[in-house]
Formats: sequence, structure tokens, C-alpha cells
Amino acid sequence: MSKRFPSCIRLIAMLLAVLVLGGCAPQPAPAPEPTAVPAKRSGVGFYFDTVVTATLYGAPEGTLEEIWAECDRYEKLLSKTIPGSDVDRINKSAGTPVTVDPETWEILRRAREISAMTGGAFAVTIAPLTAMWDFTGGTQRMPTDEQRLAALPLVDDSAIILGENNTVTLPAGMEIDLGGIAKGYIADKVAEMLMGKASGVILSLGGNVYVLGRKPDGTTYNVGIQDPDGGSGSVLAVVNTTDRSVVTSGIYERKFEKDGVTYHHILDPVDGLPSRSDLASASIVAASSMDADALATACIVMGSEKALQFMRDKGIEGVLITRDRQVFKHQTSDTFQLNMLADIPVQ
Ligand code: ADP
Ligand code: MG
Repeated sequence: MSKRFPSCIRLIAMLLAVLVLGGCAPQPAPAPEPTAVPAKRSGVGFYFDTVVTATLYGAPEGTLEEIWAECDRYEKLLSKTIPGSDVDRINKSAGTPVTVDPETWEILRRAREISAMTGGAFAVTIAPLTAMWDFTGGTQRMPTDEQRLAALPLVDDSAIILGENNTVTLPAGMEIDLGGIAKGYIADKVAEMLMGKASGVILSLGGNVYVLGRKPDGTTYNVGIQDPDGGSGSVLAVVNTTDRSVVTSGIYERKFEKDGVTYHHILDPVDGLPSRSDLASASIVAASSMDADALATACIVMGSEKALQFMRDKGIEGVLITRDRQVFKHQTSDTFQLNMLADIPVQ
């Protein structure tokens, strides 16, 4: 190519290159730069039996891959069904202490705390019961009353012993299922990793959303709250916020119908049956996605009255939607704004 240019032009080009690259010669004043639009990168992954999506503004190349690597690492640590995971080893320990990753230990510490705080409505030791139901595989498996009642005494998060040096001891017969809290923890950790690395982030792990920074146009984010009666993609309300997690638990997420009865995946630890409270969904807005995840699950079990009282007592912010489409909000800060897309009063 260069052969086509006359040698004088090549000389000028070389001189220019030296000026630009060398940087030691006097520089002309730089022309005003057009406002740079941060690069947008988005991707979809599948971890923890759920769809994970990430949209990043202004993040360096390779950031999406870092996110997937983190999801993969956490899945291998926290999945109940991956042999050799921390949770698998705890569940097979038959009462003997197991040394786990400090992160697993920390999740269990907080899970136990939230279980106590919610009067047992949230319980990771629900595992023996969740194992008796199949809400995802299409087999419509459910326990007999006898099986269900026999498993109930195994549900008690206060029995999890968290020892020194990251040891966990679980009484024989008991098992744990982090399905109601792990995605929140992972969302927190991924969000932490992205802070300062991207100018805007929308991260979603199933129902767990974390938003950071701003969109390139300077606005904050609208996180949708699904219409419990409308199917996936139908939005009943939006939460406008940033630097917050918005976590929704809903009885419409994973379910099956048998003999005219709908069975969904949030179990009441009191009887081991899908919660029959008046709530169809609970959305919690918080800086901690782990807390929001566990608390949203707990609120469904508690029902609107108890959940609202609990939220007021503990200063927890969020939105509850009942099966008969009443909407309740508890808000103590200006960190978010709830906008209804349907003509339903917010109570
Ligand atoms: P999703 O996982 O669909 O986002 P949740 O955060 O509400 O929904 O968690 C539901 C999952 O948590 C269930 O699939 C099960 O693994 C577990 N789970 C069910 N009931 C409870 C409960 N009462 N306490 C703690 N975990 C629960
Ligand atoms: Mg949850």
C-alpha cells in the first residue's frame, strides 16, 4: 500500500506519526472532544437454574466474562445438586462438621439471622421439604401428608452450628437449600466487583436485580415488578432507582397445577405446603441483595399484614402485591420511586 504514495507524502506522514506518538514536540490545542458515549456490553448466561442477564455501560472488555466466571464459581460452591459443592458436602455430612468456603459460612450466618428475625418464615433448612416437590422438572411430584409431616421437625435454622475456622455442623437428617438467598448474595458480589468499573450496570439473576450508576443519558433505572396474573414480561409497576437491589419473589415463578390446585415453590416452614398467604409477590428494595432475597421470600410466607408490620419494625422498604391485586408500599427513604402502570391505588 505505502508504495502507492509519493515519498514526500510518506515523509510528512512519518513526521506526523512521530509528533503524535512521541509527544515531546509542542502540541496544538486539542479540538474539543465529542461527549463520549460509554460502550454498552450485554450478555445472557444460565446459572443456578435461572437466566442471568447483564448490561454494562462503560465497562472494560472482558468484564462480562468475569461475571460469568463468578457465577460459575458460586454455582459450584452453593448448588445443592452439584456433587462436591459446599452445600452438597454439608447435606451429606450426617452430623459431622464440614469445613466450607468463608463465603458459604457467611451466607449461612446471615441466613440463620434472617430466619430468626422472620420467626422462621425464612428457613434454609426447608431443604428436606423442597426436595419432595418438583416445581421445575414437570413431574408434578409432591409429598404425601405422611412424608411432609415427618420432614417438618427437620426444618430449624437455629440448629445450624457455625463453628470456628469456617466449619458448619448440621444435625443428621437435616439439609439446607440456599435457593432463597444465594442469588442475592451473588448479585451483591458481582455488583461489588463492578462498582467503579462501569458507569452503569443492570444485573439480573432470576428475580434479583441490581442496578448501579446511570444510563448514558444520565437517567436512573426502571425495574419492573411483574403482574402476578399477567405472565412473564407483563409489568404492573416499576421501581425507579439506582445503586440498589430490587428483589421480587412471586408465587407465579415456579409452579404446577394438579387436580385444579396450583402449587408454587415458596413453602411455609410451618406445614411444608406452598404458602397460602394472601401475597402473590413481594419486592424488596435494599442495598443488600442477599437480605432482599431472603426477606422477599419470608414476606410471601408471612402474608401482607405480618409482612407490613415486620417491614415497619425493621425499616425494610418494598412493595407487596396481594392475590386480589392490592398494592402496599413501605418506604422510608427517597432511594426509589414506585410508579404504577395499572390503575391500582398504592396503600
Ligand atoms: P426464586 O428462587 O424463584 O427467585 P425465592 O427467592 O423466593 O424465588 O426463593 C424460592 C426458593 O427458595 C425455592 O425454590 C426454594 O429453593 C427455597 N425456599 C422455598 N421456601 C422457602 C422458605 N420458606 N425459606 C427459605 N427458602 C425457601
Ligand atoms: Mg428469595
